[in-house]
Amino acid sequence: MNKESLNICISCERTENIVPLVSITFAQNATWICTQCLPTLIHDPQKLVGKFENMNTDNPPDALN
Ligand SMILES: [Zn+2]
Repeated sequence: MNKESLNICISCERTENIVPLVSITFAQNATWICTQCLPTLIHDPQKLVGKFENMNTDNPPDALN
């Protein structure tokens, strides 16, 4: 399975081969979320805000010392 060619859920990072993915956008970033994580986004969006913020950052958290 070539994971790079598959869309993945921004929350649980499962591929579209495993779970149905729904296209969403947030803060002008287009991404995917699976149907199982969608309730999290609806009821507790703060949990996912960090993932969006880290998606296209120039300073990944791991690089911060
Ligand atoms: Zn998910």
